[in-house]
This record gives sequence, structure tokens and C-alpha cells, in this order.
Amino acid sequence: MTLLVLLLAGCAGVGAWLAWPTSGPPPADPPTGDETPFEPAAQYVPSNDPPSAPLSPLPLDETCEAAAPAGAAEANAASLNTLSWAPFGRTETGWVIYAPRIGAELATACGPGTPRFAAALARWQAGHGLPQTGVLDAPTFDAMKTRWTLARPFAAINARGECPNAPAVASLSTAKPEEAYGGKTIQLRPGALEAYRRMVEAARKDGVVTDRDPRVLTIFSAFRDPAADAARCARDNNCQGVTRTICSAHRTGLAMDVFIAAPGHGPDSSADDNRRAMARSDVYRWMVRNAGRFGFVNYVFEPWHWEWTGEPPLPGVPISSLPQDGSQPLDQGAPTPQPGLKGLLPRKNEVR
Ligand SMILES: [Zn+2]
Repeated sequence: MTLLVLLLAGCAGVGAWLAWPTSGPPPADPPTGDETPFEPAAQYVPSNDPPSAPLSPLPLDETCEAAAPAGAAEANAASLNTLSWAPFGRTETGWVIYAPRIGAELATACGPGTPRFAAALARWQAGHGLPQTGVLDAPTFDAMKTRWTLARPFAAINARGECPNAPAVASLSTAKPEEAYGGKTIQLRPGALEAYRRMVEAARKDGVVTDRDPRVLTIFSAFRDPAADAARCARDNNCQGVTRTICSAHRTGLAMDVFIAAPGHGPDSSADDNRRAMARSDVYRWMVRNAGRFGFVNYVFEPWHWEWTGEPPLPGVPISSLPQDGSQPLDQGAPTPQPGLKGLLPRKNEVR
């Protein structure tokens, strides 16, 4: 509510949402391989919004006033924390989690309740064959989601039913202890780790990585050996979806999970209040705006999951040819589909 009020109050002081033009293709929502996807949101997490300070001033030529479709800014401001929908197959309330990424897509730093945001959204809708309402709705988000997914090379390969091979462990680089969360052994392809280091250096310069919380942007999961994943899946008889287990993005050595924020939750908890806190954090907003400069793309449902695009995944094999021991039906436990949200429900092989 605080955020909403501030956004309504004006954008000049609180508008730093971002501007990260996305480019390139995209498709459905492929798996990332992250675990523990559906924890209940157990507790209220105090909001840390608005960010302690604007991440950067608005561009000189951008004000948050603009000619937008009548009522659109007001509608967005109202739905930001109230929209009931299921963008990833389970019911969510509001879209503040995705607002930073949407703002980047629209190349505006103005907040989601501003006329500028609504005007940019209307233009985007026009360019993508959608009604120019200027109001964020499920079909508009779905079209953006498709673009974002296709911007992930792993996801695009996965959507074709293929799974990249894993690199040899001996070819990987190991992160330094201070780069790893909780003393874990973290391995990535060398180029990905070097790019990560350049990005963290930039984040430090910009003041979003500080000594105040040394966990920020440390890596808590990176390369995962497919054989070990499969063994765990079979052992636990809990694979949470064939694709997730059989073909995780983490097998590529290009994917990493970084600590963003986790008030009251684990750093990979997909509880909505956890993701909301991440989306409101300075560091996530910085990442959405800047990680692309270092070759990283995000799976928007998981603010912590980033994939490096500087080198392609290794050639792969059909997912159907991989061992599926211990796998379970993909949509087990999935929420009941809601009328009117057709097309937004997870695909059969989607891991959320
Ligand atoms: Zn991940």
C-alpha cells in the first residue's frame, strides 16, 4: 500500500523502476530446475519499498506525465497490488513482483501507476497486436513472458524438446569462498563466472552490493551434475516435474541462483511475499536494469535465477531420451485452471 500511494503521489522521486530494453526472440516457460517451488507464504514480510533511494535519475527527457488512455494509469495503480490472476498457473495477487521487468520491457523508469507507464504500455500493446488499453492484463503479460522466455537460450532449446548436454566438470571454474553462499562449492563455465565477477564489481560500484549484507549476489546454486540430480530424484521419488528434474538449466554450467533477499524465507523460496520483497529490493531492480550488460537474463518467476548468454549451451539430446526414473506427472498439484486465463496456464513440460 505504501508503494501504491507513493507511486500515485508522483514519479520523480520514486520512479526508478528501470530501463532494460529486451531483445531477441522467445516462447513458453521452461524450467529452471530450481527446487521448492510452491511453499506457502507463511508470514507477513515487512516491505522494504520504496527503494532507499532512486537507483538513477530519470532520463532528462522523461517525465512521468504523458498522454495515456483514459483511466489506464489509475487502473494500473489499483491492480498493482490487487489483480487476481494466475500468470504461472497458481493464483497470485497483484503484479508488483513483475513490475520492474515490465518497466524494463517498456523502457521507462516511471512507476507502474504513472501515465508514462500506461502510455508506454499502450504503445507496446499496439506493437504486439493487442488492444491499446494501456492497462496491464493477462494477455499483455503473456506476450511479454513469451519474449522473455525466448531470450533464454536454454529455454528456447528446451521448448523444442531438447536438453543441452552438461560440460565436463573438469572444464568448470570454481567460485571463491566469498562468492558462494553459505560455504557451498559453486561451479560455472569459466566465461559465466568471469561475467558474474564483472557484474558484481559494477553492482558494488553502484552501491547495491555493500558490506552491510555480504550475502547479496553471492551464488547459492550454479552447476548441478545431471547424474546427481537424477539420483536425487529417484532416491526421493520427488522430482517435481519431469523437465525440472531431467533437464534443469543448471546442468549447462551457465545458470546461477544468486542471493537477492529472503526475509523469513530461503533464498530460493517462491513464496509470493518472498518474491515481492525481492522485486522491491534495490539489488533486483539493479539487476533487471543492468545484468543484460553482462550477458545475464532472468527467469521472471524466480528473481534469483539468472542465465548467462555469452556462450551457447552445449549441443543436446531429446529430453525423451533421458532417464526419467522417479519422475512424477508434471501438473501434479497444479491449481485448478481459471476461466479467462487460457494460454497462461503452464504447458505440460513447464516448470514454475
Ligand atoms: Zn536456478
